Amino acid sequence: MIHDQPPAADVLPAKGCFIDNRWVPAVSGQTLPVSAPAEGRVFAEIAAGGREDVDRAVAAARAAYETGSWSRLSATERGRLLSRLGQLIEANFEELVALEARDCGKPLATARADITATARYFEYYGGAADKVHGEQIPFMNGYYVTGEREPLGVTGHVIPWNYPAQMTGRTLGPALAMGNATILKPAEDACLTVLRIAELAAEAGFPEGAINVVPGLGHEAGAALSEHPGIDFISFTGSPQVGTMIQTAAARNHIGCVLELGGKSPQIVFDDADFEAAVPVIVAAIVQNAGQTCSAGARLLVQRSAWDRLIPMVVERFAKLRAGKPEDTPDLGPIISAKQRERVAGYIASAKAAGLPVLAEGAVQEEAPEGGFFVPPVLFGPVPRDAALACEEVFGPVLSALTFEDEADALALANGTEYGLIAGVWTSDTARAVRLARRLRVGQVYVNAYGAGGGVELPFGGVKKSGHGREKGFEALYEFSALKTVVIKH
Ligand code: NAP
Repeated sequence: MIHDQPPAADVLPAKGCFIDNRWVPAVSGQTLPVSAPAEGRVFAEIAAGGREDVDRAVAAARAAYETGSWSRLSATERGRLLSRLGQLIEANFEELVALEARDCGKPLATARADITATARYFEYYGGAADKVHGEQIPFMNGYYVTGEREPLGVTGHVIPWNYPAQMTGRTLGPALAMGNATILKPAEDACLTVLRIAELAAEAGFPEGAINVVPGLGHEAGAALSEHPGIDFISFTGSPQVGTMIQTAAARNHIGCVLELGGKSPQIVFDDADFEAAVPVIVAAIVQNAGQTCSAGARLLVQRSAWDRLIPMVVERFAKLRAGKPEDTPDLGPIISAKQRERVAGYIASAKAAGLPVLAEGAVQEEAPEGGFFVPPVLFGPVPRDAALACEEVFGPVLSALTFEDEADALALANGTEYGLIAGVWTSDTARAVRLARRLRVGQVYVNAYGAGGGVELPFGGVKKSGHGREKGFEALYEFSALKTVVIKH
C-alpha cells in the first residue's frame, strides 16, 4: 500500500533514502506504511524507494569507490570506523532495542540480544579489517608471485525482516571491512533500526557513499538493485523464490552472489542423549523469534526407542509457551505481518484438517493486544515423512516431530529435504556424532547444542535450496573480496 498523504500525528514520518550520508526523499515522493506486529497497527512510514533512487545510491557508492574517498582508506582506518560504529550502537542501545522490538514485535530480551549482536558484528569486522593478508606463492625460478585480496567494488545487499539490525551488521560489516562501497535494500516490513544504523554510520565518520540505504518494495527497489549493471556483487537473505531471481539477475550481469534462503533444520535425538539438556534447547530453537528464523530447529527427529521418554518432556515445556507483546516478557512475540500470519495459520489449519496429531499447543497472553499478529505455537507428531509440515519451511512457531529407527535412517531423514542449512545431533556417542557431522548435508552442525546459526565468528550458510556462499566469521571477508595473482619476473 503506497501513501502520498502526510502521516497521522502518532505515526513516525518517513526519513527518506540514505544516500551520500544524507536523507533524500524517494523520487516518487511516496511512502509505505509500517505496522507494529504486536499492535497490529501502522506506527511508522518509510520512503518508497524505486529504480531512480537505486540509480542514485549506486552512483554514490561508485563515486566513493572510484574516487578513493572510501576504498583508499587503509584497512586500519576502515577497521576503526567499523569499531566506532559498533560503539555508537552500544551507546544508543536502549533506543535501538525499543525500535527493533516495536518494529518486529520481538520480546525485549530478544531485541536486546539482537542489538548486542549487531554491535558485535561491527566490532568483529572492525578488528578483522587489517588481519586479512595475501600470501607469497612458490613458482618457477626467476619469478616472485603474490596473491592479494582486493575489494569487489560496489556491493548490493538485500535483507529480510526477521533480524533487520543483525543482518545489517552481518552483511555490511565484512563488505565494508574489505573496502567495498555498499547499497542496502532492507525489507519493507521492518527496517527502522537499519535506517538508524545508517545515521550512526555517518556520525561514526564513514565517508559519503560508503553506506547507502534504499528502503522500498522488494519487486521495485530490491529488483532494481539486484538487476543494476553498476554493482559488482550481491548478497541476499530471504526466500528461495526471490533468491532464484537474484541469482538469475547476477548471472545476467556476470557477477557473483551469496544466497541464504532458509531451511527445515533437523534436531536429531538418539535414545542415549541427555534429555534434560536437550529439551529446553529444542523448544527454544523453534520458539526463537516466533519461529521466523532461517535456522529454526523445525523438525524434531526422535529415535523410536526414545519417543515415549522424550516427547512428554517436550510437551510439558511446549504447552506452557505464551505469545505476547515485547514488554510482557513473553516466550515469543507475534508474526511479522498479517500476510505472514495467514501463511503460518494456514499451515496449522491444513495440518489439523488432515488429522495430524497435535501433541501440545501454547497460548496467547491475555494482555496481548487484540489486533496483534499472534499465533500460538504448536507441536505436531508423529508427522508422516511426506507431509508438508515435514518438508516445507513454515517460518512460524510450528514444531514437527518425526520418528527414526537407527543412525542410517536418521541420516536419510535429516538429509531428505530440499534444504540444507544447519542440524543438531543429540547423543552421548561421540563417534556417532562425528560420523553424522561429516555426512549431514548442511552448512553447520551442532552436537549436544543448537545455536540457530548464532555466533558472529561462526561461518554460516547452506547447501541445496538453502543457498550457497558463507556469511559470518572470516569466510565472509573472503566472499566480499577477490584474490588477485601478481607475477613479477626478476
Ligand atoms: P522475500 O520476499 O524473499 O524478502 C526478502 C527480501 O527480498 C526483502 O527485502 C524483500 O523486500 C526483497 N524482495 C522481494 N522481492 C524481491 C525481488 N523481486 N527482487 C529483489 N528483492 C526482493 O521473503 P518474504 O516474502 O519476506 O518471506 C517469505 C518467506 O521467505 C518466509 O515465509 C520464509 O520462508 C522465507 N524467509 C527466509 C528468511 C531467511 O532468513 N532465510 C527471511 C525472511 C523470509 P520487501 O520485503 O520489501 O518486499
